[in-house]
Amino acid sequence: MNETENRKKVAIIGFRFDENSSFLRGAAEAPPLIRAALRSDAANMWSESGLDLGAESVLFDAGDIEPSENEEMNSRIERSISTLLDRDLKPISLGGDHSITVPIIRAFGRKYDRLSILHFDAHPDLYDQFQGNQYSHACPFARIMEERLAQRLVQVGVRTMNGHQREQAAKFGVEVIEMKDWRDDLVFEFDEPLYISFDLDGLDPAFAPGVSHREPGGLSTRQAIDIIQSTKGHVVGADIVEFNPQMDPLNITATVGAKLLKEIAAKMIERLSE
Ligand code: MN
Ligand code: MN
Repeated sequence: MNETENRKKVAIIGFRFDENSSFLRGAAEAPPLIRAALRSDAANMWSESGLDLGAESVLFDAGDIEPSENEEMNSRIERSISTLLDRDLKPISLGGDHSITVPIIRAFGRKYDRLSILHFDAHPDLYDQFQGNQYSHACPFARIMEERLAQRLVQVGVRTMNGHQREQAAKFGVEVIEMKDWRDDLVFEFDEPLYISFDLDGLDPAFAPGVSHREPGGLSTRQAIDIIQSTKGHVVGADIVEFNPQMDPLNITATVGAKLLKEIAAKMIERLSE
């Protein structure tokens, strides 16, 4: 990495891995399409708050990590995130299915003693195991809480709770704000370094159809952006996962992913006007 890259603040890295998906594959194809939407001439590179992501000092693109079999992939993900953190970059990872969040958070655990996670998802992803797989994309937050990698986990967008996952949420002390209880005036505040994990199926499929598990009744894109912008806390890392291009015939969801990336990056760097 040269000196110019060292001055950058946010790193984008892609993990083309969807082997822990439980229903449809396809999320492995997502990272290049989110990048293309970000760089598309259809929009500019500015966040709503006034950050130009196209500016020299903002984005470092670390490229994609080639997929490998499960265990090797986990260590590749952990190592690559650690490398970025060691260089004081704030990584935004592009999935891939949601299983990638476990090794990512393990890397964060080595840098940060305390971490909070704000998790957008239709699903709580708290299964002890799913279809015999402890690393299923339905399980990452059970692993993260068991390994005590997060002091606080707040979930928004959830609308698929079942008995087992309700028990798991209670066991791990997860703060779940289900869609049935949603209010637009909720504001989230975090004292510890904050990681944002954004499963695109947290949005309503009307706004983001390109996901493997479409679940009606979710957040609008605007509501999600409002949460990101209004949350009080120091955002040190993020992921945008579960975009499945095969379910996205009009390329809407890639654009939504790019928009969220811009707003999360702006949140990491803080507003230029402040
Ligand atoms: Mn989900
Ligand atoms: Mn998920």
